Amino acid sequence: MAELPPLREVIARHGLSASKALGQNFLFDEQLLDRIAAIPGDLAGKKVLEVGPGPGGLTRALLRAGAEVTAIEMDSRCLPALAEVGEAFPGKLKVIQGDALKLDHADIMGGEPFAVLSNLPYNVGTALFVRWLGGESWPPLWTSLTLMLQQEVAQRIAATPDNSAYGRLAVLAQWRSEAKMAMKVHRSAFTPPPKVMSAIVHVEPREMPDGVSARVLERLTEAAFGQRRKMLRQSLKGVPGAVEALEQVGIDPQRRAETLSVDNFVALARVLSA
Ligand code: SAM
Repeated sequence: MAELPPLREVIARHGLSASKALGQNFLFDEQLLDRIAAIPGDLAGKKVLEVGPGPGGLTRALLRAGAEVTAIEMDSRCLPALAEVGEAFPGKLKVIQGDALKLDHADIMGGEPFAVLSNLPYNVGTALFVRWLGGESWPPLWTSLTLMLQQEVAQRIAATPDNSAYGRLAVLAQWRSEAKMAMKVHRSAFTPPPKVMSAIVHVEPREMPDGVSARVLERLTEAAFGQRRKMLRQSLKGVPGAVEALEQVGIDPQRRAETLSVDNFVALARVLSA
């Protein structure tokens, strides 16, 4: 493996001034990057999809861990720097230039299982998160998601009903997956530092509960948390059969969405999916 120059030097040599529009906040600390790459467990010989590699800090850490990396990067200015990383790890890095929101990830990964690691702009990260966690097809081709997000979003994903952060994202993340907060990352770790703190969530898929349509569950949580301060008998009015289903599964219609467990939502969605 050839020696790679420090990331700061790579950025300077390729003129990669951080673009605000592309949400670029880079990580340079190799030890931190190695710790992030270790979150999904041993990656040796595993396929990894990295979204938004930028100058390739996390990409290097993934390759050092022995992964075979496919990376999607929107900014063509980063391609020469990523090509250098590819040369240091021959045959182990494939870079695709494009918008990760528009590409078919299963297709890119050749229909084989893969772990996802990513440090993305927060709006793109949340949109991809919702896409990866949604849909009827389960288990997904991804074996885990390890995502740097705004700390507040990460807390919403891992929240339990006793917490004010609990809502749609928590139900989506937890009804057929394990989602946990893996690491908090101080804003000063990034160049330039973003305005808010970051955190990494790690998600692994579990078996999907029987007889539940993902679409029905998504519709239910959208309605319930869309008016989270209202009683369920009010907020669920627009979902046909939902108020009756509450009685069927023994949930008091005077309760509010934020008091229902993930299992309660699953039970409700099962009645409505029948
Ligand atoms: N992974 C690098 C790191 O940790 O230092 C860069 C992280 S930076 C927060 C986000 C990266 O995602 C940038 O390189 C940006 O160009 C890229 N990006 C932004 N939107 C994207 C999209 N829709 N698809 C793919 N890459 C995107």
